[in-house]
Amino acid sequence: MSSIVLFGPPGAGKGTQAERITDTTGLPQISTGDMLRAAVKAGTETGKLAKSFMEAGQLVPDEVIIDLIKERITLPDAKDGVMFDGFPRTVPQAEALATITEVSHVIAIEVPDERIVERICGRYSCAACGSVYHDTFNPVPSEGCACGQWQEKRRADDNEATVTSRLQAYHEQTSPLAAWYRSRGIFHQIDGDREIDAITADILAALN
Ligand code: AMP
Repeated sequence: MSSIVLFGPPGAGKGTQAERITDTTGLPQISTGDMLRAAVKAGTETGKLAKSFMEAGQLVPDEVIIDLIKERITLPDAKDGVMFDGFPRTVPQAEALATITEVSHVIAIEVPDERIVERICGRYSCAACGSVYHDTFNPVPSEGCACGQWQEKRRADDNEATVTSRLQAYHEQTSPLAAWYRSRGIFHQIDGDREIDAITADILAALN
């Protein structure tokens, strides 16, 4: 089995692109952020542990994340490979991943910090279907989301105070991984500050 890693700062569009790549490749998306938010909502032990880190915009401890991934990867849909979104985020996580599955491509979606802040503050989604909207760049139509069950959802950590910490965590703890993967010859840089379709096209070209 061989897997893909979507790499990049918070708000780079990893989730949006993951959905599109899943449609094309059939690889299931594994988002540690989504898994943690579900755990927080369900009030599990993992969720209780993760909540304060997430609210502060800090990374959740490696051992919690690695356990989540080890469990998720055993599900039948992961047998032919998966697409990781927001994992790994530290060198220990990448080292653990190397023992779990082969990574064939790391797709790095690059967006400058100043664009990240405006993209994250103002971001919301439809709770029913997951479509992502933005107050300025992509507001939901006046009649609601195309899925017909429009329900606005905003992430608790999508605010200006937290985004600064999340960017700091990215630069200090996650971006060193770029060199780690580049040295393995599987790192593909994509300019993420463009139209969504253009970014998807470049990602699919890199995957071919
Ligand atoms: P995301 O949805 O990927 O932006 O993640 C939201 C938050 O969940 C992050 O700010 C972290 O607190 C936590 N988180 C998600 N994935 C990881 C990870 N791989 N390692 C550590 N913390 C994570």
